[in-house]
Amino acid sequence: MDFIPYGKQLIDENDVQAVVDVLHSDYLTTGPNVKAFENAISEYCDVKYTIAVANGTAALHLASIALLNKGDKVLTTPNSFLATSNAILYVDGEPIFVDIAKDGNIDLDLCEQELKRDPSIKAIYGVAFSGRMLDQQKLRYLRETYNVIILEDCAHAIGARENGIKAASCTNSDVSILSFHPVKHMTTGEGGAITTNSKELYDKMLTLRGHGMVKTPDMKPWEYEMQMLGFNYRITDMQCALGFSQLKKLDGFIQRRIEIVKRYDEAFEKSIIKPLYTYDGRSSYHLYVVQVDFTLLNISKVDLFNRLREKSIGIQLHYIPINKQPYYRSLGYGNESTPVMDRYYEECFSLPMFPKFSNEEQEYVIKTLFEVLNG
Ligand SMILES: *Cc1c(COP(=O)(O)O)cnc(C)c1O
Repeated sequence: MDFIPYGKQLIDENDVQAVVDVLHSDYLTTGPNVKAFENAISEYCDVKYTIAVANGTAALHLASIALLNKGDKVLTTPNSFLATSNAILYVDGEPIFVDIAKDGNIDLDLCEQELKRDPSIKAIYGVAFSGRMLDQQKLRYLRETYNVIILEDCAHAIGARENGIKAASCTNSDVSILSFHPVKHMTTGEGGAITTNSKELYDKMLTLRGHGMVKTPDMKPWEYEMQMLGFNYRITDMQCALGFSQLKKLDGFIQRRIEIVKRYDEAFEKSIIKPLYTYDGRSSYHLYVVQVDFTLLNISKVDLFNRLREKSIGIQLHYIPINKQPYYRSLGYGNESTPVMDRYYEECFSLPMFPKFSNEEQEYVIKTLFEVLNG
């Protein structure tokens, strides 16, 4: 059996050809494919503006410059990739880690308690963890009641829909971000995007993507003005051609993931393996997370990881609580009361799921997992 990772891209001949075509053209960096890809993302996500950037972390960085000021307090989740809260630190903001709810997303009721306790809190950085969107009604309520800025990290969630609201549509948020890392739903190699419905935020983030440089028709032909301190967070035309080609197949990829989810759900029914949530249509199913109470078993989580790896199965853990990372501890974090996250971290792991994952491979993963867990 070849090694089975927890996630993997699916690139076909059309994708390859799309990239090769750009290599034969005049533009390698910002060319016509960047705008075409941005427009396609806007249309797909039901949002007014999209800015494609070098990666999801760059998207978070630019969004944070546009949304936050130095010292701003931001509620965020310990259950994410490092980049989400790092972006708050990049702009000298102050992340405040809030416990998660049962579905793995930041607990918005606890967020409300924090907002009541401290009206100076500026923003919430939520993550649509594993593809499940944040409760949109609750987001709207928090935004209207507390006048709080909302960023939705939709790195896992492109293609998700809740009550007709699409992920990254910014229906109840100021900005959303996407990632096109190969392990996500669709890929551009490295790559990411920022979405927003605000013209003002769009203009600012677009300028920041390219060194803070502005060129207007009334200027002399050689002139440009630097109006703010920006970066080179551009994405290439090759990458955007790949993204455009991948986006056409995204719904098919998600459909295939849903088949995998349903097969796992069925296999784990009434067993010691508890899915974080079973199929209900309210996710784009980036991760299939399960929880196991290891205190009831003769095997530790470390042994499980190692034994499965010996059998060519790469499970993963999403995520180590960010606030407990050494760097965050050095800033004084790590002792927040997050009982749900702590328990979740003891019990959770993610199983392989990606469009190319075959039924045979899935059977093998399920059978081997039960064998190893039952010792
Ligand atoms: C992948 C990911 C990012 C960062 O995206 P990159 O493109 O790898 O920089 C941010 N947030 C979450 C939740 C992610 O999963």
